[in-house]
Amino acid sequence: MIYDHSTSSPSVLNADLHSHSTVSDGLLSPTDLTRRVADLGVELFALTDHDDVRGLAEAREEAARLGLRFVNGVEISVSWETTTLHVLGLNIDPQNEDLAGGLAVVREGRISRARGMADDLARVGIPGALEGANKYATNKEMIGRTHFARFLVASGVSSGVKDVFKRYLVKGKPGYVAHEWASLSDTIRWIRSAGGVAVIAHPGRYKLGANPMRRLLGEFRDLGGDGLEVITGNHTPDQMRHYASLAKNFGFAASRGSDYHGPGESYALPGRLPPLPEGLRAVWDLWK
Ligand code: AMP
Ligand code: MN
Ligand code: MN
Ligand code: MN
Repeated sequence: MIYDHSTSSPSVLNADLHSHSTVSDGLLSPTDLTRRVADLGVELFALTDHDDVRGLAEAREEAARLGLRFVNGVEISVSWETTTLHVLGLNIDPQNEDLAGGLAVVREGRISRARGMADDLARVGIPGALEGANKYATNKEMIGRTHFARFLVASGVSSGVKDVFKRYLVKGKPGYVAHEWASLSDTIRWIRSAGGVAVIAHPGRYKLGANPMRRLLGEFRDLGGDGLEVITGNHTPDQMRHYASLAKNFGFAASRGSDYHGPGESYALPGRLPPLPEGLRAVWDLWK
């Protein structure tokens, strides 16, 4: 890919390429989310629901109505070594059969994991969690920990979603179920088959030391991965600098996305993050 430095500077475009609707664990419908994002001044927007692409048509339609540039996206759950990773597929063709088939298998795994989570919560005296969580899942196939967290808050077990992720649903706590997600190689293959670019989401959120992180980035690059989400809702300024430098060293393009899940459940608002650091190739230049 040749990057033309004479085109408009990537850092000035208000791109937000990571967000969730009710098709996964966001609080707003694809239409309402797209309106919110446009209101906040975003100029290039990607909806990236977890393991599902069925919100894209609706969001795209609303974006067209509002004159907002829209990018088809997805955030795929991956098991790499002993870590769960999230890989964004951006500028994908949602009709692609390899991608759609792969995502369907990941969603089936979510349903069996959810049963296991509910069984484990029942063992510590919290019954009815599967039915409870399902009430918060608009898309029953995309049941996840956030839906369980909302149920635990609503039923008075926990004071808030953040609190849930300290006391429940995480390794060593009630409601946690170890799970095998998609492999990194399958994930990149599906994204590439669908004509998209693969980007490691929120790299600062994984509990990886310097060496495993380098091993991951090397493997990701060898498998055909394209980018790193340098600017994201929960990165500190130090992490933004750190991942900018890793993106440069490994030759990755850089992405920017809030990981917005809706009011009250997000690290940052869409379109309000710092710009991409200078000197990095922006992911959106890969499909321009
Ligand atoms: P799952 O893919 O079902 O394991 O759920 C992962 C989702 O849980 C993430 O995408 C977040 O939306 C949410 N999540 C994970 N950790 C936290 C946390 N500490 N605080 C709030 N939400 C979290
Ligand atoms: Mn989520
Ligand atoms: Mn994620
Ligand atoms: Mn996300």
